[in-house]
Amino acid sequence: MNQSEEQYTAEAIADPHVHLREIGWVMSDVVRDCYDGGSDVIGPQPNTNSPRITEQEVSWYINSAKTFVNPLKPMSFIPFVMLTECTTRAELEKCVATGIRDGKIYPYMRTTKSAHGVHCYSNMIPIVRWCGELGIKVHAHFEHPNSVHPNRDAEYLCLPIAEIFLESTKAIIVWEHGSDGRCVRAWKKFANDFPGRFYLTLTAHHLAWDEDSAFGDVRKKCKPPIKTDLDRLQLISLIGENHYWVMAGSDAAPHDVENKHAHKGKCSCGDYTAPFLHLLYAHALSHLFLTPRGIEIYINFTSRNARSLHKLPRSSRNVILVRKPFTIPPFYKVGDWTVEPPGVGEVLEFQIAK
Ligand SMILES: [Zn+2]
Repeated sequence: MNQSEEQYTAEAIADPHVHLREIGWVMSDVVRDCYDGGSDVIGPQPNTNSPRITEQEVSWYINSAKTFVNPLKPMSFIPFVMLTECTTRAELEKCVATGIRDGKIYPYMRTTKSAHGVHCYSNMIPIVRWCGELGIKVHAHFEHPNSVHPNRDAEYLCLPIAEIFLESTKAIIVWEHGSDGRCVRAWKKFANDFPGRFYLTLTAHHLAWDEDSAFGDVRKKCKPPIKTDLDRLQLISLIGENHYWVMAGSDAAPHDVENKHAHKGKCSCGDYTAPFLHLLYAHALSHLFLTPRGIEIYINFTSRNARSLHKLPRSSRNVILVRKPFTIPPFYKVGDWTVEPPGVGEVLEFQIAK
């Protein structure tokens, strides 16, 4: 290492939102990339081909993922069950008995593999209430399922739904991949009015890019869509306030190149950031590295806040970030897929010290 290269000690990222896809070599390589990208916790999302809606399906999925962990590269998992309008209390009780304490709500057809998503949120109130009673956290992809609402506003229009869940149940609500700066005031009010019951995850790609820099790059196409620079700056400013309820969550979502550059139909949504996740968060939040207090905020956001929410042990390793340019490569091999990451050819400010 060159004397002039600044370096910073961070922790491994606790990443509660990753798409491991189907059991097999793609899953295996995503687990590897998550480790190499700086994480030691993965929360695998349940929207696989056949969605994970029962305790049995989730346990099988998580146990399979564990078999792909390299013993030299330890990784913990947060099991997630999909919550649908048909979820029963008996199934949730089985989940709790085997240690599944996180459920995920998808909006019908607003994102990848959401055909089992929710049409009518009022049907979810009793299910969210059971989750509260049983100690299952309720994570939601908050984009309104009614297609009458424009894509740009679909997240914002979910604020009253989250509010109803908070008011009429005792469940912990986790708003996944917040992207709309207009929500910040309401999120703060939720966290203030319902202490310990409202949490927010933010992806690295929503912090690093805005819709203008994403325009024309199909590899950055994701749900919810990357929004304006003003939105991005509001999310970054929220992180700087060091709230215990704001945390990283990558939403790393691989797709084969054929599905991104589609010749028929629409491209698949999802940004594959796993292999350089720490670098992308550090790049987007590089101003935090100017002071020791800023570095502490960065560590809280990327590691400690999620560990305390999910009652996980402390970070299994330190990750040393070096201020040294890293060029996002043209593709990664993930199982038999060729996955093009967002920002191919762009230069990030950091590398992980080997
Ligand atoms: Zn996701």
